[in-house]
Amino acid sequence: MEIQTSSRSELVDITDRVRAIVKESGTENGICVISTRHTTCGIIINENESGLRKDILGMLEALVPENKSYAHNQIDDNAHSHLRAILLGMNESIPIEDGHLVLGTWQSIFFVELDGPRTRNINVKIIS
Ligand code: ZN
Repeated sequence: MEIQTSSRSELVDITDRVRAIVKESGTENGICVISTRHTTCGIIINENESGLRKDILGMLEALVPENKSYAHNQIDDNAHSHLRAILLGMNESIPIEDGHLVLGTWQSIFFVELDGPRTRNINVKIIS
């Protein structure tokens, strides 16, 4: 799937789109792997609450500040985006049971933009 992000850093809830792909596949039991081939974004699962979304971005800012001297900035000026992406990881795997993603009530799947805005591609692979 393709998404267009709109900010430098943001969390985009992709749960409904992934659910639709699982439903369309007709898979009853299996594994859904969501991944991205980009190096300055992440895929995470957590609660979609506006305060928490801000806190997650705040945590990344605190752990990996933008205004530091990074070696990669000599060629690209986005070292902090790469380093934050490493902390989040680039994929999640979710079981599929009886045709549904096995997610808790408060769990949502997020694409985390760390160097936007950009057009991004997310790969959803279903193993039945
Ligand atoms: Zn870079």
